[in-house]
Amino acid sequence: MEARDLAFSFGATPALRGAEIEIEAGEILAIMGPSGSGKSTLLHCLAGILVPDSGEVRYNGERLDTMSEARRSALRRDQFGFVFQFGQLVPELTAAENVALPLMLGGIRRAAALRSAHGYFERLGLDGLEQRRSGELSGGQAQRVALARALVAEPKVLFADEPTGSLDSLTGEQVMDLLVGEARAQGTTVVLVTHEPRVAAYADREVVVRDGRVTVPVRRAA
Ligand code: ADP
Ligand code: ADP
Repeated sequence: MEARDLAFSFGATPALRGAEIEIEAGEILAIMGPSGSGKSTLLHCLAGILVPDSGEVRYNGERLDTMSEARRSALRRDQFGFVFQFGQLVPELTAAENVALPLMLGGIRRAAALRSAHGYFERLGLDGLEQRRSGELSGGQAQRVALARALVAEPKVLFADEPTGSLDSLTGEQVMDLLVGEARAQGTTVVLVTHEPRVAAYADREVVVRDGRVTVPVRRAA
C-alpha cells in the first residue's frame, strides 16, 4: 500500500503535512518518531480509520481516501486487523467471544467462530483462558487475546499502534515474538507504530515521522 502527500489537521493542529510512504506486501514496517509527530494519524489514514484532508492512500490499486465509507468499512473488516495499546476487549464478553467476534460480525455462525478462535488460544499460549473476561486477564494475556482477535479473520494487513505500550519489556517481547511469528507464517503485512527501538527492531524496515512528514533513517550497522 502507499500514501502520497498526506495532510491532516485536527482543527488548527496539523498532524500530517506531506507524509509519503510505500509498504510492500508481506513487509513488517516500524513507524517511529517522537510523541505528537503524527505516527498514529498516519496509521489511521493508512487503515481507513481517518480520511486525509488531502493526498492519496492506495491499497491494492484502490483509493481508500475517495471510496465510500461503506466500502472503507468493508475493507477494514475483511482485509485489515487492528491491535492498539489499551482497552480493546469488550469487557462483557469472554476472551473466546472477543476473539470470535470479528468472524461473527463477518457472518460466520457462533459455533464455527468459536472453533476458529480456539486454535488461536493454543497458538498464542492462552490455553485455559477462554472463559475469562478481560478484567480477569493480566496485561500480557489481554494483549495476546487482542492479537488473536486481530488475526482470526486472517487479515492481509495488521495495524499495530504501540501494541506493547502498556506492557513491561519482557511481556512486550513475548507479544512481539507472537505477533511477528504469526505475521510471517501468514504472510501478513504489518504496520507497527512504536517509540521503542527494541520493538522496532522486530521490523524489516523503519521509518521515522517528524512534524507530520516521513523521513527514512540511515540504516543501522548490523
Ligand atoms: P503520535 O502518534 O506520533 O504521538 P499523533 O498522530 O497522535 O502523534 O498526533 C499528531 C498531532 O495531532 C499532535 O499534535 C496531537 O496532539 C494532535 N492530535 C492527535 N489526535 C488528536 C485529536 N483527537 N484531537 C486533536 N488533536 C489531536
Ligand atoms: P493514540 O492515537 O493516542 O495512540 P489509540 O491508538 O488507542 O490512541 O486510538 C486512537 C483512535 O483509534 C481512536 O480514537 C479510535 O478512533 C481508533 N480505534 C481504536 N481502537 C479501534 C478499533 N478496535 N477499531 C477501529 N478503530 C479503533
